[in-house]
Amino acid sequence: MPELPEVETVRRGLVKLIKNKTIKKVKVIYPKIITGDVGQFEQQLHGKSIQSIGRRGKLLLFNFDQGLTMISHLRMEGKYFVKSSLEPLEKHTHVIFEFVDGSQLRYNDVRKFGRMQLIKTQQVKEVPNLAKLGPEPLDNQFLLVDFIQKLAGKKKAIKPVLLDQTVVAGLGNIYADEVLWLSKIHPLTPANKLSPAQISLLRQQIIKELTAAVAAGGTTIRSYTDAFEHSGKFQFDLHVYGRQGQPCQRCGTEIVKIRVAQRGTHFCPNCQRVTK
Ligand code: ZN
Repeated sequence: MPELPEVETVRRGLVKLIKNKTIKKVKVIYPKIITGDVGQFEQQLHGKSIQSIGRRGKLLLFNFDQGLTMISHLRMEGKYFVKSSLEPLEKHTHVIFEFVDGSQLRYNDVRKFGRMQLIKTQQVKEVPNLAKLGPEPLDNQFLLVDFIQKLAGKKKAIKPVLLDQTVVAGLGNIYADEVLWLSKIHPLTPANKLSPAQISLLRQQIIKELTAAVAAGGTTIRSYTDAFEHSGKFQFDLHVYGRQGQPCQRCGTEIVKIRVAQRGTHFCPNCQRVTK
């Protein structure tokens, strides 16, 4: 699943490839990808130009002229490709944005879980998915005082709290395991049992890890590729995700995989102990 670093890498690629392009026609092949009326979606984008492409958490925001924004959630396997309209369609292409210059932005999604929604730009912050989203994992936005306060009110285990996007935006299953290992926190530790020192370290690791992953262009876990079809370069730096049965890089204890809130979760039973 693309997490913040992968989505940011896709965003940067798309800015280079399609910014300022004008849409000639939109064709939705698989209607369920679109939230809302499909006919209206196709019609409203006709003749619009892409002015900028933003991101909040794992959501892409395509900003068009005349105050329209398309929110795009890639979910599990969503991908964008930019191709000439002369090139044959790939299998699993569900939405085609054809530009006046003859190129196309194609949305491809093997599992069809991704979603797109067209709204007025001024209403972006009110969309439920965005309104409840926590801060971006940046030093000047993701503040320690707020992080401590939010975790104090949560009895749930820290791993699902990190995944739910309301405390901090952008972490998915891979980076949640990584930052918990880096902070020596057991994924099942109740969020409200973490000490201020643990929370402070966790915050630093979240910022550091996601910043480094963005700089490296995302991970290659699963079938992730950016808009240029390049894979990410970050795979060398995963410490615990996918390493069950291998020795912990810190203490040599075998990494264990368990399920936490339906998600495969990797940790070191020696370095990461539950805080009681
Ligand atoms: Zn260890």
